Amino acid sequence: MKDISVTLTQTPKAKPTDESKLGFGQIFTDHMFLMDYYDGQGWVDPRIVPYSSFVLDPACMVFHYGQAIFEGTKCYRRADGGLQLFRPADNLARMTRSALRMGIPALDEETALAGLKQLVLLEQDWVPHQEGTSLYIRPTIIAMDAHLGVHAAHHYLFFIILSPVGSYYKNGLAPVGIYVEDEYVRAVRGGTGFAKCAGNYAASILAGELAEKKGYSQVLWLDGVEQKYVEEVGSMNMMFAYGDRIVTPALNGSILPGLTRDSILKLARQLGYQVSEERMAIADVFEDARAGRMTEAFGTGTAAVVSPVGELCWKDEKLVIGGGKIGPVAQKLYDTLTGIQYGRLPDENNWVVKLT
Ligand SMILES: *Cc1c(COP(=O)(O)O)cnc(C)c1O
Repeated sequence: MKDISVTLTQTPKAKPTDESKLGFGQIFTDHMFLMDYYDGQGWVDPRIVPYSSFVLDPACMVFHYGQAIFEGTKCYRRADGGLQLFRPADNLARMTRSALRMGIPALDEETALAGLKQLVLLEQDWVPHQEGTSLYIRPTIIAMDAHLGVHAAHHYLFFIILSPVGSYYKNGLAPVGIYVEDEYVRAVRGGTGFAKCAGNYAASILAGELAEKKGYSQVLWLDGVEQKYVEEVGSMNMMFAYGDRIVTPALNGSILPGLTRDSILKLARQLGYQVSEERMAIADVFEDARAGRMTEAFGTGTAAVVSPVGELCWKDEKLVIGGGKIGPVAQKLYDTLTGIQYGRLPDENNWVVKLT
């Protein structure tokens, strides 16, 4: 592992005083972690520096050809005041898989993880205290060459920024309404769906805005070829409960392999639920919900952990699921996973990395 240099800010910012108003990704801490990649040198110069703007050439390749990938993970404060991360090495391993798909070299995961931990420790007073709050960690890689030729860049920048974020749920787990998108698609097999790349989000924004205008909080994506099969929702994977059986779309290359998805599936099995990963036709989901066989639907992702879906709208049919309320399966999985993340429950899967 390479040595990480540290330059401290001379002008620390005031920390937010009202943690109930944090929101998501609106304020950033005093420092960031940077590391460069140059062809022939690999990842070099890992450093913690004061948070600041970047100066980028207008020809910078990331603006033109979009080699940009990111990750999202969190630092949680336990009741005893100590801090812990959740599966951070798995986020960085996924970042390498995203990188390789985008023609970006594999990350130096060891140095990146050391930098992530050191940065969070330096900024530990920024980790909020209130129930449900956390410090959101955003590792990113962008192509840096000032060059308009279409090819892989020779210089990349890896950076990590930190943002204290509020509780996703103000009044318990409120179910959301989701619009099943049947015009636009997010990803196709062989494309970049499994990579956490900025371009997937660029391709999704218009449909998200249109769904919002119709009163839905997010879009449920169908497969990009036949538009028949359930893929995922916005920045969450989808799960459906049939009583004590949990079914989720199988990873097929166009679905983002969520760490929350993976953690929830493992916990569900350990809790005694039946779990299966399948190709799920949206018509069957609607049929099963109408017939009362499907009892719950919920999304899973780092930001919300578990987000119950109270309504799905597909081709103008509005389907209320679980009476529009959170069901027992989603609640149990939410309580279990957040219990582990915040240190209230034992971590039998060795997912937690204690920092203090
Ligand atoms: C990040 C992300 C998820 C959720 O992944 P987690 O690792 O659980 O946070 C799901 N879908 C998409 C498209 C994502 O970008």
